[in-house]
Amino acid sequence: MIESTSLTPIIGAQKISQAKKQIDNAQKIVIITHLSPDGDALGSSLALYHYLLNLGKEVKVVVPNSFPYFLKWMNGTKDIVVNTYIPNVAEAIIKNANLIFCLDFNILKRIGVLGDLVAQSTAEKILVDHHLSPDEVFDTVISYPHISSTSEIIFRLISQMGDFEKISPIIAECIYTGMMTDTGVFTFNSNDPEIFEIISLLIKKGIDRDQIYSNVFNNYSENRFRLLGFTLSQRMKTYPELSSALIYLSKEDQAQFPITKGDTEGFVNYPLSIKNIVFSVFIREDEDMVKVSLRSQGAFPCNEFAEDYFDGGGHLNASGGEFYGKIEDAITLFEKGLEEYADVLKQCE
Ligand code: 5GP
Ligand code: MN
Repeated sequence: MIESTSLTPIIGAQKISQAKKQIDNAQKIVIITHLSPDGDALGSSLALYHYLLNLGKEVKVVVPNSFPYFLKWMNGTKDIVVNTYIPNVAEAIIKNANLIFCLDFNILKRIGVLGDLVAQSTAEKILVDHHLSPDEVFDTVISYPHISSTSEIIFRLISQMGDFEKISPIIAECIYTGMMTDTGVFTFNSNDPEIFEIISLLIKKGIDRDQIYSNVFNNYSENRFRLLGFTLSQRMKTYPELSSALIYLSKEDQAQFPITKGDTEGFVNYPLSIKNIVFSVFIREDEDMVKVSLRSQGAFPCNEFAEDYFDGGGHLNASGGEFYGKIEDAITLFEKGLEEYADVLKQCE
């Protein structure tokens, strides 16, 4: 049992003492999370940020690029260093750090150009994550793919280090935000009863679940909704015999409903609500590439599909990848993939 809670101590004692020592020995700490940070990336990073600040450390959160407006309410976002805005500052922080925390990603490619800076740094590196097959560049690997969010692992890490009492209401709010967003508000990867024990503890710490839900999900722009309607009615293809669906948006489509970063977040989930659809893919034309998001229900491995066709990866039921070329060609490649995965899809119906 973790002291002060009834949770299973999933992080090994040796990793806990190693991480503790690394934190004790470091004064300048940087926390880095993945490209296009989502609720779990920011929730876990900011929770750890506030914890380390309270310990008296000099700590910064550095992210490769900007994050969506519906996460800006989170405490600490104003102090985040965004590499695309101030690359010199981001570089100096990483170069001067004596401890680097890498959160919510498994391979350095997921932090873009920051990957080289991390690889070259002589600082100690701690990975806290829940993706399969982490890179080998980390000194301490706290990685549990069966845990549904990195934020939950941060809760467990702080608690197992004996600092449950140091989880403030602000830290609790960050942790809950990440747990909530990475499980689709506890609608997938959320059957572990300990998730709900942790939520109970976070409520006792003072979080307002209803308010956090509202901050994230009742804060969207009108254009997002108009674009969603357009996407579902005009840009969705279903493949009923393969239990699959595709939605896609070109740059021109998106220009009709001026949106900002993050406005298409969650679109990929909608086709999964259709009876018998177990695999949904969203292909979106961005400025410099075509972004592919994949979601599945049950046993269908979207991470393998993402790896095979879109140089990507992720979790069994939620993955992503990229395509460099025309959106039409990305769609053709997706359809080729569907045919090649037909037998697997038929088993997953
Ligand atoms: P999303 O569709 O929300 O962008 O990403 C879902 C999940 O897929 C992420 O949590 C991450 O694990 C993974 N993912 C997204 N994009 C990429 C990518 O380009 N490469 C890899 N390896 N994983 C990705
Ligand atoms: Mn995550």
